[in-house]
Amino acid sequence: MTLSYDQAVPLLLDAGARLDARGWVAATGGNLSHRLVDGSVAITVSGRHKGDLVADDIMRVDMAGAALDGKKPSAETPLHTGLYRLRPDVNAILHSHPRSSVLFGLAREGEGAVTLTGYEFLKVFPGVYTHEASVTLAVFPNTQNMSALQRQVDAWFAANPQAPAVYLVRGHGLTVGAATVDGARYTTEAIEELLAYELGRGRLQWAP
Ligand SMILES: [Zn+2]
Repeated sequence: MTLSYDQAVPLLLDAGARLDARGWVAATGGNLSHRLVDGSVAITVSGRHKGDLVADDIMRVDMAGAALDGKKPSAETPLHTGLYRLRPDVNAILHSHPRSSVLFGLAREGEGAVTLTGYEFLKVFPGVYTHEASVTLAVFPNTQNMSALQRQVDAWFAANPQAPAVYLVRGHGLTVGAATVDGARYTTEAIEELLAYELGRGRLQWAP
């Protein structure tokens, strides 16, 4: 559900601390956001450590990613607002740099998407009730040109409207959207775990 700014802030601070505890937002990596009831977005400001966030490190932007309160948004802010525009079911987005997700994107160089199947953890995705299901995640090349990346994200989700609101950026990180902050965090944890399994399979030469 959408929240007020005052409701969203403590959830984002808590999510930052939890992601930091897992080592997934090293240095000033990652950004966290929540859709607000007035149609704007609460998001972490540029350049702060996500494990040390205080309320002043959260700002409001409009759906085009422009600051509404004079604070400096992260360069990755358009990737949050872009996903909110694309996916009305998404109210919270966590972008982090977990190790297996970063490595996996590099290991599958040249593939535009990866399909995961056979894992119990797949049941974290909406509408998945068995490990025998398969879930396809988009993998985009990294770039510093956020509008070019967002065009690719827009095109992929337009072509795959049923896909989970999740994607990898190669050698960079993982972006997860969900209805709630907790939902986005659980999905982040599950994907990082799934991709660690896939990397392990590759090392054991069980890769499909
Ligand atoms: Zn990033």
